[in-house]
Amino acid sequence: MRRTRKNTNTPHMVNRKMDDETFAMRKQVMTFVREASDVIGVRLPRVEVRIADPVNRSTLGCARMGDRVIWISPFSCKEGGLHLRHCVFHELGHAIFNKRHTTHGLMAPVLKSTSKFTQDTDFRAMATIHNMDEWAAA
Ligand SMILES: [Zn+2]
Repeated sequence: MRRTRKNTNTPHMVNRKMDDETFAMRKQVMTFVREASDVIGVRLPRVEVRIADPVNRSTLGCARMGDRVIWISPFSCKEGGLHLRHCVFHELGHAIFNKRHTTHGLMAPVLKSTSKFTQDTDFRAMATIHNMDEWAAA
């Protein structure tokens, strides 16, 4: 038997139940997921978004490599703005582009605040023709 729903649990974070507060945070995250599509000018494949409390306090977000699920912490949602945008783009880098950490920039393992320009440049650099062919075939 096959699961019909994607597994959206991670050992690193505890999913929030969907109430008004969680819904509002998820909506914030979705805004940046859409912005990420706009940045590369291609509609990203569907990504599951969960708002989740980290097991380790310093975790801002989490993603399953190439599996199109991202988890974002309430802390990052509350920070909002370029901080949240960075987190969302970073996790999409793992979840959509299957990218590992780099020493600096958007995919650095520890968030150092980045400009919108850096976020866009690094995000665009991850989106290869290969990805887009894959999405078109899906
Ligand atoms: Zn990461």
